[in-house]
Amino acid sequence: MEASWQDRTPRDIAERLKTAGIERAWIARDTISGDLRASHPALDPLAEAMSAGALDYRDHEALFLAPGPTGQELFGAFIHSSLRGQAQGGLRHCPYPTLEHFIREGLRLSLDAARTAALAGLWWGGGKGLISRCAGDDWRKPAYRRSLYRAYARFVSELRGCYVTAEDAGTSPVDMAEVAANTRFASCTPPHAGGSGNPSAMTALGVVEALEAALEHLDAGPLETQRVAMQGGGNVGQAMLERLLEKGVASLVVSDTSAERCDALRGFFAGTPLQVREVAEDDRSILSEACDILILNALSGSLSEATIPNVRARIVCGAANSSLAREAHDSQQLHERGILYLPDSVTNSMGLIASCDEQAGTLPADPAILARLDRTNANSIYGLTRLVLARAAERDEPPVQIANAIADRAIPERHPIHGDRAQQIVQCLLEPRPCHAGQAADEDEASTRLAL
Ligand code: NAD
Repeated sequence: MEASWQDRTPRDIAERLKTAGIERAWIARDTISGDLRASHPALDPLAEAMSAGALDYRDHEALFLAPGPTGQELFGAFIHSSLRGQAQGGLRHCPYPTLEHFIREGLRLSLDAARTAALAGLWWGGGKGLISRCAGDDWRKPAYRRSLYRAYARFVSELRGCYVTAEDAGTSPVDMAEVAANTRFASCTPPHAGGSGNPSAMTALGVVEALEAALEHLDAGPLETQRVAMQGGGNVGQAMLERLLEKGVASLVVSDTSAERCDALRGFFAGTPLQVREVAEDDRSILSEACDILILNALSGSLSEATIPNVRARIVCGAANSSLAREAHDSQQLHERGILYLPDSVTNSMGLIASCDEQAGTLPADPAILARLDRTNANSIYGLTRLVLARAAERDEPPVQIANAIADRAIPERHPIHGDRAQQIVQCLLEPRPCHAGQAADEDEASTRLAL
């Protein structure tokens, strides 16, 4: 018996798309009826599962899929919403064990980007790009990566600008240079290509601002008195460790699963009190470290029903998106335990702000970006964090619920100049592509051959 889509891997889908000669497949929401439609009958079961509320589908506008260059990698572009403007969000290049993991991650992270943009008052929608990493070691090879990111850039170009991509976990500045050389719908591009470069240092500064706002909200004393534990010492993690050491925190420990990263951190921070711990992929011990502040700077879903009871920190925050495995449930569990969990849509927005502002050109020490770190500015990370925490305390609710409610009211607002132009682009990508009669017959045949 044929396996169902739940049992498929991203690679299965990529191979099937490639074999059927399908360059792009999609699932999208009808803007009038709200029903989900799929480009090919084989995707109908997936669309039905999403409609039934599975996979963290929350009225997303569309998702687009395409096979990568070798047919082993699956490309995804997820668009939660584009009424505020083009959907912006980073590109992750990670291993995904199943199609379900892949789709769920894209849907969750694109909603997260939409909320982050709306909370920051940006006229941008929310999107996410994903590349499922191929098996073996090829993904480390520069020549392979160049062809992979060139192909992803072509995929983005064909989406005509409804999705604008950027750097994220697994994608390096070198990869972004390749993307930017092949599509104009890219941000966080390297300075030599006219871009603003890697936003990680800005993201780190923003998270520390939010953290200080939380300490003041709790009247918990300055950073100098706090013991800090961090999961993930990558791009953002390293910049945040620097900032926290500058602030003179009482103690600081970081865990990372990569031996290479741990060596780099030990070298970079030699002579400081930082403790670096290399851990196995499934080692979650950092989450139960005896500390005042737990910072999550690795990937998504670190906190869950299983790990939350062991958290000993008073404040949890970080740059990682979607750190709660089941957001509503887990935020309530943290709230009931008296742990202040800061929503990442409030804390990590500096990266997205830098990416979005780059589209309007770049300035040295960009005032539009630095204003977000100015505490006298109501639109600053500090100001927004204080507002969300004050409302949450007033209503005795988890801050995530307050932040989501503010964001969800702003997401359907239309771009003041372009109106629903980005949504029109999404919709026109769903029309049958203009083609000759012969091509139409070929497409019908391909559609029939695609069986998931
Ligand atoms: P990165 O890939 O440079 O760093 C992530 C680090 O986490 C890596 O060193 C990795 O080895 C480590 N890691 C993975 N799993 C781990 C685990 N279980 N325990 C400990 N360490 C683990 O990514 P980054 O750019 O530093 O981003 C970190 C997070 O912040 C990501 O979730 C990203 O989506 C999010 N984010 C980043 C930015 C930005 O400006 N870079 C902006 C917004 C959000």
